Amino acid sequence: MEVRHRDVIYLDNNATTQVAPEVFEAMVPFLTEIYGNPSSVYTFGSQVARATDAARARVAEMLGCAPAEVVFTSGGTESDNTAIQSALRSTGRRHVVTTRAEHPAIQRQCAALEKMGLAVTWLDVDPRGRLDPDAVGRAITPDTAIVSVMWANNETGVLFPIEEIAGICRTRGALFHTDAVQCAGKLPIDLARCRADFLSISGHKFHAPKGIGALFVREGTPFANHIIGGGQEKGRRGGTENTASIAGLGRAADLAAAHLAEVRDRIGPLRDRLETGILARVPRTRVNGDPARRLPNTSNIAFDGVEAESLLLELGRHGVCASAGSACTTGSLAPSHVLTAMGLDSRAARGSIRFSLSRYNTGAEIDRTLDILPPIVERLRAAHPGA
Ligand code: PLP
Repeated sequence: MEVRHRDVIYLDNNATTQVAPEVFEAMVPFLTEIYGNPSSVYTFGSQVARATDAARARVAEMLGCAPAEVVFTSGGTESDNTAIQSALRSTGRRHVVTTRAEHPAIQRQCAALEKMGLAVTWLDVDPRGRLDPDAVGRAITPDTAIVSVMWANNETGVLFPIEEIAGICRTRGALFHTDAVQCAGKLPIDLARCRADFLSISGHKFHAPKGIGALFVREGTPFANHIIGGGQEKGRRGGTENTASIAGLGRAADLAAAHLAEVRDRIGPLRDRLETGILARVPRTRVNGDPARRLPNTSNIAFDGVEAESLLLELGRHGVCASAGSACTTGSLAPSHVLTAMGLDSRAARGSIRFSLSRYNTGAEIDRTLDILPPIVERLRAAHPGA
């Protein structure tokens, strides 16, 4: 059954989001008339350079930092990789501290570093997905180049105590990076308060296009020209600037700030309505992750006796888009590394689904999902009673 676009109930916004119409509008001139290269000396180029600077200022405003501290990248993965590679090169140290709940952009990079002979400390999370900040302090050694701890988990939405961890790293003399890809547009970010040295964001998680993001590099932080060498971004990231997407990212940053209160006051309660509705209507279900310290838009739910893949396919046939684990693991039957790190057994992890909302979701969509979901779960359980 083909699902028409207008019938889709999109509850997979931690995977990616729709481009806001205002963002698209802001991009069009740079894809049509104003196509100059921002590095060129003539006005047609400097006009683009001015637009890039304006976008940088808007992103800086969203993050609570100075425009000069914002480096445009291709997205979260590049920002994450850059922060770690830069810290290793600039300090010459050979130890990295991270957690077992990070996104593959950090996890796989750290696993590769281990294979190359560097030391990595993998911090555990507790059964609610929480991280003990004191464990970070205990893991830091004189050889620690960088600590990389995500701000919000993409699968469960659980928040780590980033401000406290940033303070610990500063006191102990280690650089600190946080992957804040899932925070932008959902929570306020204030780098004047949170003393991270590096912070990653990605446009497509907050209604800008895919393939654009930024890395915050605090002024004074040693920064070694990294894997993508070249002259642009003051020598910090090579490659002719993706000017249309940069303009879109700037507009998306403005909109994110303007809609933060709505995400808290309307989307948070909608997520709660979805979650309490599922728990009330579907027996043998549980929330994964600490409900008290979570993103307002995310709900990860374990359905006993159900394979998440089958449930997602059935939901998809009715137009409801959700996911199991991170988008990258969908399609493989491997249980989520985040849920496994929280101590869920492989059966529970394989029966868990993430719903993630955005400001484009409505109460009617949530109610429709609550009508569609329970009979599907009932049918799947009846078809595989031993599962
Ligand atoms: N970090 C987190 C927490 C994410 O959720 C994602 C995307 O799923 C990324 C990094 C990667 O970002 P991008 O898709 O822009 O490379």
